[in-house]
Amino acid sequence: MERSKKPTVGVLALQGAVREHLRSLADCGARGVAVRYPSELSLCDGLIIPGGESTTIGRLMREYGFIDEIKRLAGEGMPLYGTCAGLILMAKRLVEGDQPLLGLMDVTVRRNAFGRQVDSFETDLRIEGIEEEERPFRCVFIRAPWIEEVGSEVRVLAIHRGKVVAACQKNMLATAFHPELTPDLRVHRLFLGMITEGERLLPSMENPLLESGERDTRSVNGREKVEEQRVKN
Ligand code: GLN
Repeated sequence: MERSKKPTVGVLALQGAVREHLRSLADCGARGVAVRYPSELSLCDGLIIPGGESTTIGRLMREYGFIDEIKRLAGEGMPLYGTCAGLILMAKRLVEGDQPLLGLMDVTVRRNAFGRQVDSFETDLRIEGIEEEERPFRCVFIRAPWIEEVGSEVRVLAIHRGKVVAACQKNMLATAFHPELTPDLRVHRLFLGMITEGERLLPSMENPLLESGERDTRSVNGREKVEEQRVKN
């Protein structure tokens, strides 16, 4: 079958920041579709799991039969991108709590990790793998999780206050923050590149910010200092 060049990117539309992702995709010139039923996943070349409330999205995913279908397609290589609650849902492990998860990414996630007093904040971070990666990306965090542990196949892409806030693993990308709430399209373009060009677009595992198994405190702290200087709030 002839496949059109423009990829179709689904945005899981059960709850959360669906419209915002659709707008970012449209601004990138991509075709975004709201996915409400598992049968619609077969039309998608990639899937975004948006931010929102991970317990609600997870419960609805289970009720509608999304969990096995997304796991199957991701296992076959369909690119997945999770923001915030989406990251939580993609994780294999949560520090606490019991809720439905896809359990796809080899990370341990702490929900609402940055504390109640700073429920929401913005900061400029350097994100590996995006275009012009030296140019900081404005990151919006809303009751955001952080990634507390990463498996050896996970590549860390951004760190804030010594905590991992963006990472990738094979065909999966996850951010604790919300690029769809800013006009900067570089993270969405990275994901679109994963769809059209595959994993080779992602930074290689060479010289990771975190060495597998052990934390490279020197580079983490070095990075942290640079980021702290950029914090504007
Ligand atoms: N705190 C939410 C949760 O645990 C995530 C917040 C978000 O997606 N902005 O699901």
